[in-house]
Amino acid sequence: MAVSKEGARARPVNSVDREAFRDMCRAFAQREVAPRWQQADRDRAFPRDFYVAMAKAGLIGLTADESVGGAGLGAYEEAIAMEEMSRINPNLAVAMLVQNVAGSLLYEYGTDAQREIARRTIAGECLVAITVTEPEAGNDVQNVQTRAVRDGDHWVLDGLKSFITLGGDADVLVTLAQTEPGTGRRGMRFFAVDRHSPGVTATQIDAYVNRPAPTYRIQFDQVKVPESRRLPAGFAEIMAGFNRERIMVAARWLGHMHHALQWATEYAQVRRQFGRPIGANQSIAFQLAQCHVDVQAARHLTYHAAERWDSGAPLRDVILDVSSAKLFATQAVVRVTQTALHVGGGWGLTEELPAMRMAMDALVAPVTVGSYEIQLRSIAREMGLPVD
Ligand SMILES: Cc1cc2nc3c(=O)[nH]c(=O)nc-3n(C[C@H](O)[C@H](O)[C@H](O)COP(=O)(O)OP(=O)(O)OC[C@H]3O[C@@H](n4cnc5c(N)ncnc54)[C@H](O)[C@@H]3O)c2cc1C
Repeated sequence: MAVSKEGARARPVNSVDREAFRDMCRAFAQREVAPRWQQADRDRAFPRDFYVAMAKAGLIGLTADESVGGAGLGAYEEAIAMEEMSRINPNLAVAMLVQNVAGSLLYEYGTDAQREIARRTIAGECLVAITVTEPEAGNDVQNVQTRAVRDGDHWVLDGLKSFITLGGDADVLVTLAQTEPGTGRRGMRFFAVDRHSPGVTATQIDAYVNRPAPTYRIQFDQVKVPESRRLPAGFAEIMAGFNRERIMVAARWLGHMHHALQWATEYAQVRRQFGRPIGANQSIAFQLAQCHVDVQAARHLTYHAAERWDSGAPLRDVILDVSSAKLFATQAVVRVTQTALHVGGGWGLTEELPAMRMAMDALVAPVTVGSYEIQLRSIAREMGLPVD
């Protein structure tokens, strides 16, 4: 089956009243994210019932077509859902992002049997994880060493993956492996691997971030995967998927920085020192005003990138917008949460206020799905600079 990297960019076929959709997402976040995230953060454990709740609310597969139970909407609506959930907590929200990105490899490019996995993911019956990164292949995805060797009607996978969000919770690991060593990106394929297959071991990584949706090392030791589980998608499709993911990442951190700014603004109004609110000092008020501009700029860049994505314009024409949004939002969220932490003073460093948790959560923003440097390289290339 021939696949195109433009496939992941099919135009949305449906539209919604975006304000009503935003209200629905906001109500969902209040109802389902707010009561769960703190316990999940303490337990470092993903609440599976949250995934089921998202699926029931129609938030999984927003961009998938209706034949697999999706909503046929665009990246714009996906960004709205992501932003609204992240305004309560960015880490439970990431579960939606993972389902939609891994799911899209199945429903955009998969065979009928693989699309059935996507249908179950969208229905809340099959949690999936994106299984790409390795200890020696972080930003350098082309260096993936996990090997898949053909043996009759199945493949045998060996390798070690790292930082796989929900890797130990997922039913299916959408895994990138090298099928033709020595051919670089051309010899890479995805496999939809049952996590419960013999030879698959998941070990949680003790990270300071993403605690409600933990990351795992996944060891593949002589894991047998049927040929029917090999996806037609290859390297070009991963890159297309990563670009859509970057819009979602920007929306995630937009929601988080908005929340941090709201908190810091309210705190600056009620916290009194020297007989007046700390926000009466220009030095504090101006920092918060600067944060407001960060939030507004991140909002415009994020939704502009989503609109460009949904326009169906060739991928090369939207990369500049996507990378700019991702870069700016992931830089801005660090600035805004650091300001919120500073406004919190000594109390900001305690568990009695949310400032430290918000600042810690934001630290992962520049790292995943292409770091600052990777976005800058991509922007510089699109500007025509001869950067390698
Ligand atoms: C919380 C979390 C969740 C994650 N979830 C997933 C997931 O679900 N699935 C998955 O597959 N992966 C996941 N990842 C992996 C994530 O995408 C990688 O951590 C990321 O790609 C960075 O890889 P690395 O940590 O090996 O850093 P490295 O690639 O080693 O980078 C280290 C530093 O070097 C810089 N650098 C690297 N190359 C260059 C260059 N060419 N030019 C200039 N600077 C460079 C980077 O910008 C960075 O600052 C997750 C990571 C985290 C932390």
